[in-house]
Amino acid sequence: MQKVKVAIIGGGVAGLMCARELEKKGVKDFVVISKDIGGRVICSSNRKVNYGAYFVTKTYKNLKPFLQFLRPIRKKDCLFVKSRKIYTIFSFHFVPYIFSYLRLILGLIKFRIHFERFRKNTLKISQKKAIELDPYLSKLYFTKASDFIEQKRLQKYEHEYLDAMANAMSFSDPNKASAFLFLQWASEMLLYTLYEFYMDIPKMINNFKEKIIIDTVKKIDYNDGKYIVKTENNLQIESSYLVMAAEPWLSKDIIDVKLPEYDFTNAHMWHIAGNVRETYKKKIYVFFPAKASFIVLARQLDDTYIVYADNKDVDLGHCFIDYQIIFEKDWVPAFQYNRYDIFEAEKENGLYFIGSQNLDGLEDSAITGVWAARKIINACKK
Ligand SMILES: Cc1cc2nc3c(=O)[nH]c(=O)nc-3n(C[C@H](O)[C@H](O)[C@H](O)COP(=O)(O)OP(=O)(O)OC[C@H]3O[C@@H](n4cnc5c(N)ncnc54)[C@H](O)[C@@H]3O)c2cc1C
Repeated sequence: MQKVKVAIIGGGVAGLMCARELEKKGVKDFVVISKDIGGRVICSSNRKVNYGAYFVTKTYKNLKPFLQFLRPIRKKDCLFVKSRKIYTIFSFHFVPYIFSYLRLILGLIKFRIHFERFRKNTLKISQKKAIELDPYLSKLYFTKASDFIEQKRLQKYEHEYLDAMANAMSFSDPNKASAFLFLQWASEMLLYTLYEFYMDIPKMINNFKEKIIIDTVKKIDYNDGKYIVKTENNLQIESSYLVMAAEPWLSKDIIDVKLPEYDFTNAHMWHIAGNVRETYKKKIYVFFPAKASFIVLARQLDDTYIVYADNKDVDLGHCFIDYQIIFEKDWVPAFQYNRYDIFEAEKENGLYFIGSQNLDGLEDSAITGVWAARKIINACKK
């Protein structure tokens, strides 16, 4: 049986950033055990098309050293399709919504001031403690986005624009998602420039790649102050610290810990080469309303297309005259859009849960990894 100080389960951004921080700060006795490297960050072989996480912003400070910012997602390149109506953001169609838009922007600025403070805090304390430290954020966490929309009198703007934007960013109807999640994504979209990106995972893992084991963890037991990790390939690894960086909804199958209740959002993704119908040719990104089956259609840098729909049975002929599927992936679930609890990621006995238990998004998952590593580094010093 291999014995290490730290076992990290899961090689998405959270697990990899945790490993990187441990390595950097001199705690070198660890392994990462994961089914794959990158998790929900997957790209095509020519590195131009993202099949999972799709955009980043320049606020992703912890991930920045590993990000190549590609094409900006400009608002002028977005088209909204609603029943028979087709419109853009900055057009005559937008005029009646200007005041709602300004009210929303003010709300987003307020949220973002709190959110950036929260992010900074989560490098030192758990997300649960950081949310609870801020009554404004705690309240939003348990408020429905629809209630927030109503309070701010944004229903009409939401109906015409926000609903489709939120659908594209979180695959969920803003009437169901939490206000925190809704404001997190809406502020990224409306206050910052979103970029398509390439994540340089080889660079991220360069200093510890020999410590990554590609395998599936089946069970983890805790005996006499040690974790025993058992894998599909019959490996057994003993560790003093355990970092669970697998998708939260999978963790409960591996380790006996009570996890919160979530509502999940699903989507199916196709990467397509083909001829798109005339209506959808006008702009690079086409957004569909939350009630439609299609979610978003995006022309890629290599002139192929990414299409998202809420299930795989949709007729792609609706968007394309002719097409060939290059790759497709079921994101079931993709992520959680509503939480009924704030999860405390620091458990007893050197056990940490990192990643997207409380919030989704690459940067916040990455931060949880850095946070857990720092906690372990400090504990090792004692
Ligand atoms: C379709 C889609 C689009 C998204 N778009 C964006 C976006 O544009 N911008 C953004 O910021 N965020 C986006 N997100 C969210 C973002 O991708 C996630 O929040 C983030 O990648 C989570 O990282 P993580 O490391 O916590 O988890 P994951 O990336 O899910 O990593 C979990 C890891 O655990 C491994 N694992 C699971 N079970 C086991 C096991 N039993 N044994 C071993 N290994 C295991 C998995 O293989 C994986 O490597 C998107 C997500 C999806 C699905």
